[in-house]
Amino acid sequence: MQEALGRMLLVSGPSGCGKSTICRRLLTDDRVVFSVSATTRPMRPGEVDGRDYHFLSAQEFRARRDAGEFIESAEVHGNMYGTLRRPMEAALAAGRVFLVEIDVQGALQLKSLEVPGIFVFIAPPSMEILRERLAGRGTESPKVLERRLQKAEDECRERERYDHVVVNDELETAVNEVRRIAGLETGPVAGLASDGAIR
Ligand code: ADP
Ligand code: 5GP
Repeated sequence: MQEALGRMLLVSGPSGCGKSTICRRLLTDDRVVFSVSATTRPMRPGEVDGRDYHFLSAQEFRARRDAGEFIESAEVHGNMYGTLRRPMEAALAAGRVFLVEIDVQGALQLKSLEVPGIFVFIAPPSMEILRERLAGRGTESPKVLERRLQKAEDECRERERYDHVVVNDELETAVNEVRRIAGLETGPVAGLASDGAIR
């Protein structure tokens, strides 16, 4: 059997630290595959089933969870979310980097399950800058924003439990640092030819 050469890269941190921004940049590399989570929450305008999430009914989610299809699952704001096992196995077997963008709760759950992966905590340069960025994104009401900042302080205390901490000050520097950690700074991942075939 072909040995799995890929690796799992978990990008985590508090809301507004820059997870999505950094993951979007990493995904310009075709050696990187994004983990599309399953969720029971309703689809938002502009979202695409299978691209943003796999949107499932609560019944289907439970059935698939009970069948062991998720490596982790969690309830967030009354909806269920889970990371699918099969795409992870396929990506790793193909020697690709399986990129999981995940909140701190989910990452620590995976860490405690000893899921093999590189756990990267994206830290804001300061709480003031995090506040500015979250406010600048303009996607949360002032009340939700305050709640997220409060939570962010607790989450930042968990950074010691990660394998690496990358401070997202200058974006380009942070992206390059994550690339280096994942072994993506040069050439293809060992074992994966540039055409994607495994040799
Ligand atoms: P998350 O996915 O962790 O919630 P986002 O990627 O949405 O965070 O980033 C939050 C906001 O901060 C976005 O408006 C994004 O454009 C901005 N941002 C992210 N990284 C940087 C950076 N290094 N410098 C300045 N602004 C940034
Ligand atoms: P949203 O519904 O806004 O897309 O995501 C809400 C929250 O669910 C975010 O904090 C996000 O990180 C988290 N989330 C998304 N997918 C997963 C997943 O597969 N597992 C876990 N544990 N959390 C997830």
